[in-house]
Amino acid sequence: MPDPTTDPVAAYLAQVRKEFDVFGEASALPRLHAALGAVLALHVRQGKPVRNYSKMCPEHAWNPADRSIGRLEDIRDCPDCGYTEYYVCAHCECPDDKWPCPTYRAISAELLGEENR
Ligand SMILES: [Zn+2]
Ligand SMILES: [Zn+2]
Repeated sequence: MPDPTTDPVAAYLAQVRKEFDVFGEASALPRLHAALGAVLALHVRQGKPVRNYSKMCPEHAWNPADRSIGRLEDIRDCPDCGYTEYYVCAHCECPDDKWPCPTYRAISAELLGEENR
């Protein structure tokens, strides 16, 4: 499960669970809670960002002479290199989806009524 202190969907689910525990009604709630938790456990943001080098300037490109490449920090800060990094979903079915992935966004929209959490 995502961390409820940083993830609004996980926080909402924790709240639903707490309300059920207090009022003891809605017998489907624990199952719904578990099902959503299982989906959200798959669709989490991958820990490391994906690094995308769309362009490398002559200074930082692969140098066959000394078999070297520019340092990441130099490439990232270089105005002539094209470098971006982004996060993806850890679930294997959506490896190229930028985080948050469609599954997470769909659940988030239903629970929170927002598209871009
Ligand atoms: Zn996903
Ligand atoms: Zn460069």
